[in-house]
Amino acid sequence: MVVLLNLCCRGGNMRKSYYFIISTLILSAILPNTGIAQMNQSQINQELNKINKSITEEKAKSSTITKEINQIEQQKKQIKSEITAIQGQMDAAGEKLFDLQQKLKIKDSELQDNVNRLNEAIERVDERKKSMETRLKVMYMNGMISYFDVLFSSTSFGDFIERFEALKSILEQDKRLLDSLEKDREMIAQTNLAIKQQQESLKLLLQEAERVKSELALKEKNKEVAILSLNQKEEYLEEVSEEQEKKLMALASKQAALLKARSNTSVKSSNSKLQWPLPKKYPITSNFGTRIDPITGKSGASHNGLDIGAPSGTSILAAEAGTVIVAQWWSTYGNTVVIDHGNGLWTLYPHMRMNGIKVKKGDLVKRGQLIGEVGSTGRSTGPHLHFEVRVNEKAINPESFLN
Ligand SMILES: [Zn+2]
Repeated sequence: MVVLLNLCCRGGNMRKSYYFIISTLILSAILPNTGIAQMNQSQINQELNKINKSITEEKAKSSTITKEINQIEQQKKQIKSEITAIQGQMDAAGEKLFDLQQKLKIKDSELQDNVNRLNEAIERVDERKKSMETRLKVMYMNGMISYFDVLFSSTSFGDFIERFEALKSILEQDKRLLDSLEKDREMIAQTNLAIKQQQESLKLLLQEAERVKSELALKEKNKEVAILSLNQKEEYLEEVSEEQEKKLMALASKQAALLKARSNTSVKSSNSKLQWPLPKKYPITSNFGTRIDPITGKSGASHNGLDIGAPSGTSILAAEAGTVIVAQWWSTYGNTVVIDHGNGLWTLYPHMRMNGIKVKKGDLVKRGQLIGEVGSTGRSTGPHLHFEVRVNEKAINPESFLN
């Protein structure tokens, strides 16, 4: 188990092939492929004990792997929900950013309007100044002329004063207007300053929002990297798990052969097609062959059986007469019954519900006999019967065996 854990953490093909070689060596040491026929009862019993022991060991390894895969699934779920939360925060940050950008745009146009107003005010002030200067000049010149008039003609001095007063009053009006224009100009200039300050603080807020958003994006990226590495780990563990499955199958095959030799009973099979393993027709939810893995979502996963969707507790019936060679928890298959029908033909009934196995190892069962109840134990997403047919341990499409 320790070896396996190390393997999972480090991975690598080298180590994996070591693992493979070692397990193959162990298997061939325990399981000489010939000679069962020559064994006496006590040798068979001895061999069976050895096999039972290795099945127990291998199953412990398998359940460790299954546990690890489940843990990884949990971690992935957790990280995915964290990513969802981050994405929510990013959406909010994006909205805030957009809002600030809009506000800044408004400030920009406000400033533009104000700059225009300021320019117009400056122009008005300039014009007023110019016309005042012109009037000053006119008054001065008129004053000079009137002065000469007064000197040389000594008449209409009153007229001169009148005109002079009139000019003076126009000039005073000019001056008042100019003052108020100057005040306007000042006010507009101050408003400009205020808008510019508002713009600056908006820009700071914008920078902060951008920083928050990019920080969140980085966080999300890191989470996605974590998921990627978990996926790799999981993929590796699933390969090991598959190898483990094969190993257990080989052990079960050997066990069946030994049990048969010991009991010396051969079960007569009816030699016709297999019977439907449930009391009535239920929909086939997944066919034999490659498919998208219902748990990892990966495509190209091979599916070794026929999934029949039936409610939990539905009776499972032996598809043919035979000897029960497995009737127990079986790694990712959960509660499993395997029946050996002779001539290398087996049928498998995994995922039975808790306490749903209704036969025991070594039982002889009749075609159509109740052997268990539908459930969702092991690597399963809901109640169904995964009906599997094997010929010399190789999975074959069950549909070619059914009526
Ligand atoms: Zn299945």
